[in-house]
Amino acid sequence: AKMAAFLIAAAFAGIAGWLYAYAQRFVNPTPFSLQAGIEYMFMALIGGVSSVWGALVGAGLVTFAKEWLQDLLPHLLGRTGNFEAIVFGLLVVALMHRMPAGLAVTLGRRLGLGRTAPTPPKGSVEPLPRRERATPGETMLSVRALSRRFGGLIANQDISFDVKAGEILAVIGPNGAGKSTLFNQLSAVDTPTSGDIFFRGQKITGIGQREVARRGLNRTFQHVKILPTMSALENVALGAHLRGHRSLISAILRLDRAEEARLLKEAETQLVRVGLGEHIEAEAGSLALGQQRILEIARALASDPLLLLLDEPAAGLRHKEKDALGDLLRTLKSEGIAVLLVEHDMDFVMGLADRVLVINFGQTIAEGTPDQVQSNPAVLEAYLGGVE
Ligand code: ADP
Ligand code: MG
Repeated sequence: AKMAAFLIAAAFAGIAGWLYAYAQRFVNPTPFSLQAGIEYMFMALIGGVSSVWGALVGAGLVTFAKEWLQDLLPHLLGRTGNFEAIVFGLLVVALMHRMPAGLAVTLGRRLGLGRTAPTPPKGSVEPLPRRERATPGETMLSVRALSRRFGGLIANQDISFDVKAGEILAVIGPNGAGKSTLFNQLSAVDTPTSGDIFFRGQKITGIGQREVARRGLNRTFQHVKILPTMSALENVALGAHLRGHRSLISAILRLDRAEEARLLKEAETQLVRVGLGEHIEAEAGSLALGQQRILEIARALASDPLLLLLDEPAAGLRHKEKDALGDLLRTLKSEGIAVLLVEHDMDFVMGLADRVLVINFGQTIAEGTPDQVQSNPAVLEAYLGGVE
C-alpha cells in the first residue's frame, strides 16, 4: 500500500513538472533545486500531510508569505538575502511543537471539520464468505528443526513441534528466550536460518507474509502495531483486506463500496465479538493498552484465520479483561481454530493451554501438558534459578 501511495504521488509530481514546463516553455534547474525541495517540505509540514486541505493551505500560505517576507525583510534588516527561510524554519519548529499534525489538519479538527471515520453499514449486508473449517484433529502446523541466528547469537535452535486444530499451545520461557523470534518466523515476518515450517501439510517457509496470512495463519504483536489515528473499526477492517478483491483503480473510482461495506460489517462483527462493541468509532490510539491488544486480536480474527499466533495478549490487561480473553480463546478453540500463545501470566496459561512448550536460550527444554511441565526440573531451574 505504501508503494502504491508513493507511485501515485510520484505520478502527480510528474504531471506537475510536465505542466510547468508546458506553461513556461522554458526549463532551468532553479525550480528543482535543494532550495525548492526545502520549500516543499515547509509546505507539507505547515499545512499537514494527512489531508488534501493541508496541501492547499500549506502551499498557499508558504507562497504568499514568501512574497510578502521577501518584500518586508530587506526593509527591516537593511540588506537582501534569503531571510524568509529563517522565518519559515522558526515557524516549522513552533508548529511541530504546538501542532505536529500541521495547521490545516489541527484547525480543521478544532472546527469539527476533521475526517469522518466510516461507520458500520446499516441494513443488511451479505457477510463475507468464510473459510472451510479445519477437520478436528488435523495437524495445522508442523515446525521442524527451526533455527535462527543473529550474528553470533542463536535466538532459536532446532525447535520442532506440532499444533493441531482446536488446540491451544502455550509457548513460555524467560525474557529473551526466543519466543517472539519464533513467532516472527512462523508468520514470515522473519526468515529462518535453517529448518522448515509446514502449514496444513504444505511448506510455507519463504512464501512471504501475505501468502501466509492468505492461507489462514495470522498473528498479533508483542508491541501493539495499530494505526493510532484511524478508528477501531478501520483498524480491524484492515485485517480483512485480503478477503476483498477489488483493485486499487476501482477503489480510486469508488466502485468498491459494496465490498467495503462487507469488510466493515465483518470488522464490526469481530469488534463486538471481542467485547469492544462500545468503541467501534473510537480513535484506536485513544484506547487503553489492554484494549489495543484486544483490537489486534479482532484484526487477526477479521482475516478468518485457522491458526492464530498471540504474542503476550494478556500483558497490560486487568483481571476481568483476562477472564474475558480466556473465554474468547476457548470459543476459538471450540470452533477448531488452533492458537499459539506466548504469555507470562502462569495462572492464565496453565488454566487455558492444552500443551505447553518451554524454551530457554532458544532451545526447547520441555514440552507437555501444563501439569507435566510444571513439575519438570529443567523448567523449575529456568524459572527459579535451580532447585536444591
Ligand atoms: P522473547 O520474545 O522470548 O522475550 P526474543 O525472541 O524477542 O525473546 O529475542 C530472543 C533473542 O534474540 C534476544 O537475545 C534478542 O536480543 C535477540 N534478537 C531478537 N531479534 C533480533 C534482531 N532482529 N537482531 C538481533 N538480535 C535479535
Ligand atoms: Mg517476546
